[in-house]
Amino acid sequence: MSLAEGVLQLVEDARTRQPFARVLSVHLEVGALAGVEPEALRFCFEAVTRGTVADGARLEILAAPGTAACLGCGGTVELQALYGDCPRCGSAQVQVTGGTGLRVSELEVE
Ligand SMILES: [Zn+2]
Repeated sequence: MSLAEGVLQLVEDARTRQPFARVLSVHLEVGALAGVEPEALRFCFEAVTRGTVADGARLEILAAPGTAACLGCGGTVELQALYGDCPRCGSAQVQVTGGTGLRVSELEVE
């Protein structure tokens, strides 16, 4: 639930910068390593936005890849799971660099 509230907070922040009457859709980038269930997030989003400017807004969930720097081969690689091994060289010494959070990439308003 708190993730959905965070998204709503981002929407309200945007509204203080640029006033709008309502939100038509929210494009949300969800990192592959964020541990988010898209369907659960969608359900929570509908619940927390009820009666707000984002009531009825379409939630578009886009998957963002998890990325990591591998200390084994020095490459920048994509990770499917947190604590995954480097898909290139198999090393477990990888440092996650991205794909662990949520980001509103686009807000369609009127
Ligand atoms: Zn590697």
